[in-house]
Amino acid sequence: MGHMLHPRPLIRASRITARCRQLGRQIAGDYAGQHPLVVPLLGGAFCFVADLARAIPLHGLELRFASASSYGAGTVTSGQVAVDAIPECRDRQVLVVDDILDTGRTLRAVELALRAAGAAEVRACVLLDKPTRREVPIQAQYVGFTIPNRFVVGYGLDYDGRYRHLPDVCTIDEE
Ligand code: 5GP
Ligand code: MG
Repeated sequence: MGHMLHPRPLIRASRITARCRQLGRQIAGDYAGQHPLVVPLLGGAFCFVADLARAIPLHGLELRFASASSYGAGTVTSGQVAVDAIPECRDRQVLVVDDILDTGRTLRAVELALRAAGAAEVRACVLLDKPTRREVPIQAQYVGFTIPNRFVVGYGLDYDGRYRHLPDVCTIDEE
């Protein structure tokens, strides 16, 4: 393996847990009496949606996974987004769940795909928001934490497949 990168906690697991409970209550209130279709984007959202969905006490909730990924390798986004497995969503109120909102290209591509498939409404819930990085004018209705422009890993977020399992959201600046 190459040089080691050292993860340092930025947002601790206990804060994430508490924020998921708040967001879950807020989402349940906003969709009271309705049956939203929750669409997490794999793989980054896997930890977040597990905690978030279990904090949304709505009987009518339906959950189906999709995935989105930027073409190209590394941490530099190419701007081209591949969206896969968009579920049947005609006339549905869709809540997209993702790990992080960065340039906004991923969320825009997913929203366009959902609308093309007939979604009545599309909202987004992201754990993290880096608003200073935005290239597309888009925002999420539900945001866990607004963070500065640092590359983060953990709690589902990876660096080339690593660090997804860390309980905290961490920065990985080189030593
Ligand atoms: P956007 O399309 O908004 O630029 O980026 C969204 C996607 O880029 C996220 O779902 C995530 O996969 C990736 N991404 C953006 N910023 C980070 C980061 O700081 N760390 C990691 N691990 N992934 C990121
Ligand atoms: Mg992602």
